[in-house]
Amino acid sequence: MITVVEKAPRFSQEDAIRLAAEFYGLRVTAEALTSERDQNFRLGDAAGAQFVLKIANAGEAVEVLDLQNQAMRFLAARDTGLAWPQVVAARSGESIVAVAGHFVRLLTWVEGECFARIQPRSAQLLSSLGGALASVDAALEQFSHPAAHRAFHWDLRQAAMARPHLELLPAARRRMVEPFLDACERLEWNELRSSVIYGDANDHNILVDGAGERVVSFLDFGDMVHSATVCDLAVALAYVMLDERQPIAAAAQVVAAYHATRPLTAPEIGALYTLAVGRLCLSVCYSACQARRAPDNAYLNISEAPAWALLERLTALPAGWADDVVRRACRPAVTADLVAARRAHLGPSLSLAYREPLHMIRGRGPYLYDAGGRAYLDCVNNVAHVGHSHPRVVRAASEQMALLNTNTRYLDEHRASYLERLAATLPEPLRVVYLVCSGSEANELAWRLARAHTGGSQAIVVDAAYHGNSSALIDLSPYKFNGPGGRGRPEHVRVVTMPDVYRGPHRGPDAGARYAAAVAEAVRQCDGLAAFFCESALGCGGQIILPAGYLREAFAAVRAAGGVAVADEVQTGFGRAGSHFWMFQTQGVVPDIVTMGKPIGNGHPMGAVVTTPEIAASFANGMEYFNTFGGNPVSCAVGLAVLDVIRDEGLQANARDTGGYLQRGLVELAGRHALIGDVRGVGLFLGCELVRGRETREPAAEAAAEMVERMKDRGVLLSTDGPSHNVIKIKPPLVFSRADADLLLERMDEALRMDSR
Ligand code: PMP
Repeated sequence: MITVVEKAPRFSQEDAIRLAAEFYGLRVTAEALTSERDQNFRLGDAAGAQFVLKIANAGEAVEVLDLQNQAMRFLAARDTGLAWPQVVAARSGESIVAVAGHFVRLLTWVEGECFARIQPRSAQLLSSLGGALASVDAALEQFSHPAAHRAFHWDLRQAAMARPHLELLPAARRRMVEPFLDACERLEWNELRSSVIYGDANDHNILVDGAGERVVSFLDFGDMVHSATVCDLAVALAYVMLDERQPIAAAAQVVAAYHATRPLTAPEIGALYTLAVGRLCLSVCYSACQARRAPDNAYLNISEAPAWALLERLTALPAGWADDVVRRACRPAVTADLVAARRAHLGPSLSLAYREPLHMIRGRGPYLYDAGGRAYLDCVNNVAHVGHSHPRVVRAASEQMALLNTNTRYLDEHRASYLERLAATLPEPLRVVYLVCSGSEANELAWRLARAHTGGSQAIVVDAAYHGNSSALIDLSPYKFNGPGGRGRPEHVRVVTMPDVYRGPHRGPDAGARYAAAVAEAVRQCDGLAAFFCESALGCGGQIILPAGYLREAFAAVRAAGGVAVADEVQTGFGRAGSHFWMFQTQGVVPDIVTMGKPIGNGHPMGAVVTTPEIAASFANGMEYFNTFGGNPVSCAVGLAVLDVIRDEGLQANARDTGGYLQRGLVELAGRHALIGDVRGVGLFLGCELVRGRETREPAAEAAAEMVERMKDRGVLLSTDGPSHNVIKIKPPLVFSRADADLLLERMDEALRMDSR
């Protein structure tokens, strides 16, 4: 291959016209077409007949040209459902004519659109490609030609031929490519069926019908070789993935259709993704080599930049996911079974997200990956705080799990360090920790602590709040007791207005004091106040940031009546605020009890309550507080790993910087889209309130639900909240980057633009 580019023929348009007349007796016009190592001319005669004049590279063996001609004839005689170019014999009767050291052939022209130009590509088109290629491979199983058994650099079975070119790549790129080449070489090639393959289903060689939905032909048989049959599909996948937003899903679509027409074997399925990426690697290696030899041949590098971009994206995917998706594409659909099993056995009061449910099978950083090959940017999961399946957290859990897991009645080093580290994140006098298993358990215990300490039994809560799933906490959650199936406000609970400066009654600079006055009023109505429960920023209330001074004045009123102040940090804690580790710190207060959950274990079921020695002493009345799983060694190891990652990866600072960047982007978006009535937030706790009119502020709940669906279709996960369900909430894992923020903003802009059409 090293010499072929230099041996590319250099015939002019006039030469082509002359050759057509001299050898084929045709009077034609000619137009040059692009080619890697040959020269092709499109010819047309006065009667409207069209041809391709192919002048082969001087390095090309005549036997290989005969292989191509024979294959075209063979395929045309089979029922593949596709159109094939036909070899036109010269006046001499020859199929291949020798001219000035080059071999010339004439083929009939096949009509069609180039696959490369079709964007976006429908599922139908991708399936058609899979089916078409399967019928080509099925037909070629019966084809043989001695020239197909050749040393050929594009043959994936001979991927080692690309190795010498690795040194032409910059070090970082070489490190990216080498493992894929290694993987190709390590495949059990003997287990793969072999045959002569077409070998070049790249997007410039695939022809599509006028509607852009059906593959009608494949062109250019120059890469035919005897190899593992599955390589034919792998080549197609490599090019299908280029420039796709969801490359693995596009590949899976092609594989599923191929498999339905010509079933793949288990070893072939296992090798497919490795081979597809291997093809991209060959492509970038040979581009590097040829760019050095023929720097002015633009065609050679036509797919180089997108190939590198794709390789970078594929390298960032979780290990094994793409292979898993390919495997699943070759199995009957399971989604319906999963939905049925859920319906049959899971309590019906649990809902599924989205109109079409998602089936996630991997998580990494801020991304979730589904069974169909789609990646989703998770902008709403504040549980996967340090990123989905963070390796340090996973390692901590599995290592401790393998050693020991018991209850808290034995000494444990992880627990000792964890208690110290967790307490150190909080201001004095919050020093006493209880370890539990969920946010609900944390609030449940906080409620018991408050009642034990104060002797009271009444609570004040903020409207639309949710504090947990136990009976006692449903009673403290207006979101539930005033929601569907709720039985209204219990006697012992008072509800204060949400301190919402966008929609509530008080909006000016003194809003904090005015909303706090409502708390003071509720305190006056209480007879035996135990606690004021307040999220440090309101989640279910619709991502509401408390106005300045609110907690200071509310806490003072509560304490003056002998009550305790509980800060529910289940949604908001662990650095999400950016400026502070705990959201209550943004209000300049110290609560009496802080409850924690969700992010504390990055998905491992954990919760914690931290309080003062005084309150803890009131609770220690002789009755033991035992929690079988709370504070077990595995949970403590996980909790420690989470704190370590937050510190070592600078996630609090990232929440501040990226959160600020994202909030500015959202404000800018609101400038262009009237649907966004308000943008608010702190750090990576953000909300976009959608309204039907900026003046009326009428909640746009349907539009919000529609936005969430559209964003899902664009690979971004969001959800709605707020009493009117019109607030898009954004609270991603704290590993969210500026690039992630840009993607979210770009997709939101796109989804919002659909409305103005
Ligand atoms: N408090 C708040 C503010 C919450 O958002 C939640 C959960 N949504 C809880 C408590 C209860 O936590 P869990 O679901 O872990 O019991």
